[in-house]
Amino acid sequence: MDSTFEERAGAICAACGGKCCRNANPPVSADRFEALRELGIGKDDVEYAGYTRLKSQEDGMCVMFSGGRCRIHSAKPETCVAGPFTFEVTDHTLSLYLKREASCPLVKYLKEDPEAYQAQYREAVRRLVRLIRSLPSVEVEAISRIPEPETDLVAGIPLLP
Ligand code: SF4
Ligand code: SF4
Repeated sequence: MDSTFEERAGAICAACGGKCCRNANPPVSADRFEALRELGIGKDDVEYAGYTRLKSQEDGMCVMFSGGRCRIHSAKPETCVAGPFTFEVTDHTLSLYLKREASCPLVKYLKEDPEAYQAQYREAVRRLVRLIRSLPSVEVEAISRIPEPETDLVAGIPLLP
């Protein structure tokens, strides 16, 4: 039986070893922090650097990366769920970028499967819009200033007030 894209993606990410979890520092909204608290994650795992975010370990890997995988998979931050799409907000527009294949092995397979691409694109937009609306604008601006090298612009979506 053919595997689903989710199954294939799981195998690809496992083989990759979590490239996107290195120096990721995903933003943590107040709602996300409450969800993480229910999993036993506390204030020691987050920090403020223009926005509230998960810390990195000494080797650069996200503080939630353990044993070769994310230990909060079911409640991981919106930017993690949206990957390999990334974003910035300027002039009330959500600009969506897609990582290049060199920095994310999953991208090649996503591009080869239009149905999976559209599903992940829609999920990324849904999650990121929710995140943007849940954060103070200064924090969205701080996140938007983070350089995202090796990405290509794939969409510009107006954000209605
Ligand atoms: S999303 Fe891409 S970079 Fe992240 S673990 Fe999966 S294959 Fe690796
Ligand atoms: S929360 Fe999980 S998926 Fe997101 S960067 Fe950290 S380890 Fe990776």
